[in-house]
Amino acid sequence: MSAGYFLEREKVGLEDLFKGLVTASHILHSNGIIDAYGHISVRSPDNLATFWMPCNISPALVSSPDDLVEYNVEDVSPVEKNVKPGYLERSIHGEIYKRFPAINSVVHSHCSHVLPYCVSGVPLKPMIHMAGFLGNNVPVWDIASHYPSGSKHDLLVRNTALGASLSATFKPATSAGYIYSKVRSAIPSQIAGAPPRPSHEPDHAVVLMQGHGFTTAAYGIEEAVFQAIYTKEAAKTQTTALTIRNAHFGHIVEGKIDLEGGGKIKSAKVKAEGGLKYLSEKEAHDACEAMQATIARPWALWCREVEVNPLYRNDCPGGED
Ligand SMILES: [Zn+2]
Repeated sequence: MSAGYFLEREKVGLEDLFKGLVTASHILHSNGIIDAYGHISVRSPDNLATFWMPCNISPALVSSPDDLVEYNVEDVSPVEKNVKPGYLERSIHGEIYKRFPAINSVVHSHCSHVLPYCVSGVPLKPMIHMAGFLGNNVPVWDIASHYPSGSKHDLLVRNTALGASLSATFKPATSAGYIYSKVRSAIPSQIAGAPPRPSHEPDHAVVLMQGHGFTTAAYGIEEAVFQAIYTKEAAKTQTTALTIRNAHFGHIVEGKIDLEGGGKIKSAKVKAEGGLKYLSEKEAHDACEAMQATIARPWALWCREVEVNPLYRNDCPGGED
């Protein structure tokens, strides 16, 4: 097995891909990114038009190639007939692969540590170097504005129209094109795969989903797992920092109280001490670039952790890890 499933793309066979996809599902469960819900997929190594993901079972229980299904990117229909039922939300994956040919792996998560940033209006921003890939602006996609008429309003990305809307958020028309395309262009092509083509690159590695969770897109399985795990870690750090900061410093509200108007505060200003320190744009960029080169290290640890945990079974034949 190469160090990465796509870092040395020409060496990737389907057996290796299956084994890696099963392992990645276990790692994401082990790290609290997915529970019975959520999923990871990977593009087929030799066919841009299809991708693989587990069938509709809990990712922790995925164990063999029989649990994996190949889908067409175009409409997320199964390539083979009579396959096991799939996840409802596979259009998340299909539409990202369709829009961004350079992307080879996608993780979708409902992680509870990230959810507060999907509902509160508080922006998720990197405070730690491990999360430089977040850039200085993580978009929040609100499905409420995009339900096709007559569809269920259950927040699920049930069809390609909703998937396309979500995937477009990874590269907004008004975006300055911050993170991925620039970092990607800095990585040697033998590591990064095909030479970068800006139109194929998302500007954001992560998109939050209002009332739902988040999705991250990457160039390989390990990178997708890395980004999912450190999106969670970034959210945990930011939440804790906000909490202790507010508890320690509190807020001072200055203004006038309008007694006749029911006691409302007029012209109020909130003053806060002890502002949080986020990464600068340059720090986020450089930290992202630095960490991209180190992903093999945590990946090896995560693989071992799930290998020795009897909950997880990986019966896929394949190369050596
Ligand atoms: Zn979901």
